Amino acid sequence: MPWVVDKKSIKIKEIMPHRCIGCGVCVQSCMNDVIRMKQGKATIAYQEDCSQCFACVIDCPRDAISLGWVER
Ligand code: SF4
Ligand code: SF4
Repeated sequence: MPWVVDKKSIKIKEIMPHRCIGCGVCVQSCMNDVIRMKQGKATIAYQEDCSQCFACVIDCPRDAISLGWVER
């Protein structure tokens, strides 16, 4: 059951560009195709499709990705 409170839910919220080394692991980890590479950095492309699985957070070797509350 996804975490949804009022009009907010937990989704991928930030990929810190100063930490990202552009390895692409998170793109491979995400089963929902949320993350895309752009100019050598991972970026959030389809935040609404995030299913809060935390695979990208766990697999990122640089701890660059965080989830948090976002507006639905
Ligand atoms: S896994 Fe981490 S370091 Fe690698 S591309 Fe994704 S955010 Fe960047
Ligand atoms: S938490 Fe899961 S679904 Fe959401 S962006 Fe990361 S890998 Fe994709």
